[in-house]
Amino acid sequence: MAEAKEYDLIVVGTGPGGYVAAVRAVQLGFTVACVEKEARPGGVCLNVGCIPSKALLDSSEHFIQAKEKFQDHGIRFEGISFDLTAMMKRKDKVVADLTDQVRKLLERNAIDIVSGTASLAGPHEVAVITEGGGERILKAKNILLATGSAPIEVPGQAFDGKVIVDSTGALSFDAVPDHLVVVGGGYIGLELGSVWRRLGAAVTVVEMLPRIAATLDGHVNRALERVLKKQGMTFHLNTRVSGAEVKDGKAAVTIEGKDGSSTLACDRVLVAVGRRPLTRGLNLEPVGVETDERTGHVRVNSRYQTRVDSIYAVGDLIPGPALAHKASAEGVAAVENMAGIPGEVNYDALPAVVYTWPEAASVGITEETAKERKIPYCTGTYPFSGAARARCMGETEGFVKLICHSRTDRILGVHILGPHAAEMIAECVLAMEFGAGSEDIARAVHGHPTLSEALMEAAQAARKCSIYTS
Ligand code: FAD
Repeated sequence: MAEAKEYDLIVVGTGPGGYVAAVRAVQLGFTVACVEKEARPGGVCLNVGCIPSKALLDSSEHFIQAKEKFQDHGIRFEGISFDLTAMMKRKDKVVADLTDQVRKLLERNAIDIVSGTASLAGPHEVAVITEGGGERILKAKNILLATGSAPIEVPGQAFDGKVIVDSTGALSFDAVPDHLVVVGGGYIGLELGSVWRRLGAAVTVVEMLPRIAATLDGHVNRALERVLKKQGMTFHLNTRVSGAEVKDGKAAVTIEGKDGSSTLACDRVLVAVGRRPLTRGLNLEPVGVETDERTGHVRVNSRYQTRVDSIYAVGDLIPGPALAHKASAEGVAAVENMAGIPGEVNYDALPAVVYTWPEAASVGITEETAKERKIPYCTGTYPFSGAARARCMGETEGFVKLICHSRTDRILGVHILGPHAAEMIAECVLAMEFGAGSEDIARAVHGHPTLSEALMEAAQAARKCSIYTS
């Protein structure tokens, strides 16, 4: 066994939680090593998550724009088609370029990248099994666990990597499926369903709950369902998949809804019912790190510290939404806490985006939550059909809905379905970080013509002074 080396911090996992934390730690004067079991850094986000999915969403949306929307602008194409191999190659290049950038970032900051699978060997020790099967022990004052999550596999719908796939499989089909059944109407299912629908597949989404994207405000998820139906997606809500049989490269998916049970014949099944924290093999319990019996998440305090003082955890491994920016913010906060600087994440102002087209973006509480918590609130809504810029773009679907406290005026949540909602939500996050009221947004002068004028109008509507809805 090779000799032990002592660091200030060992980070396990180089996803957006791990690598961002590692760089912040160097800024704070720490010596840092990152252990990563995959060949490329960047975690799920860069390799098989946010980035490849957005690359395919962008490519497939360009195709649909050219095929269906450019005529409205007076632009004509003859015989428009796409090259799936080229599209996949482009996606792979975006991933390769970005993961390469992360590797260079770590190297530039003199962070040791240790290849291998890590497990805890003590409060200050990490054992790493390298590719050749050898073991190395690394020592550090602090350890940050950022091993992320993996797709949940459902009994009776086990992934076979060909017909029944997880999100990683659905990012790399070698041909457009004739019929793709998506199990789970969350953001991953809707985004990947959108990619293949745009490229010509029939797409059927089966969701156990009465709503798709159930964490979104009810107005938004109902409107999103209508838009996606118009784009040709089929939905079975309040419906459970009870099994999937594969034969000769096809699947028969059994579904059970209020009208009884039936079978969907398809050639690909994407099971996207959620993700579970990746704790297997980390040797948590013997070292004293606690996990939640029900969800498997690592338990941490408000400083991201586990029950063992020197061991911290962030990202998909701990409770909360599985989002890359949450993981990064927690990584920074955890390391700042280690350094004695108060580090925290404002979960009340954490944005979430569904990258369908139009996009759905939100921050803060939904109207349903405001009701549940008996918070006195008022809302202001403004449609993109009333925004001049959206008209110029030919993108009039959707609306902005702002929820504010009816006594203090403080903004409690903003929910947007519309073009570039993902970019628009940043202004709302900032407003909430500053404790803004609807009056602040209503009075702030917004450039004309812009999509964000719809946000200003929604804020004015909440104050009953919207110009265009008078
Ligand atoms: P991860 O990114 O999962 O990184 C964990 C790292 O730890 C991995 O590199 C893994 O190999 C390594 N590791 C695990 N165990 C060990 C071990 N024992 N030893 C050494 N290394 C180990 N989020 C968004 O915010 N926006 C999006 O648009 C978005 N789109 C997504 C699309 C898809 C298809 C998927 C699947 C996810 C998407 N996400 C998105 C979620 C996002 O990818 C995750 O929330 C994020 O990657 C979590 O970051 P993390 O650092 O906690 O873990």
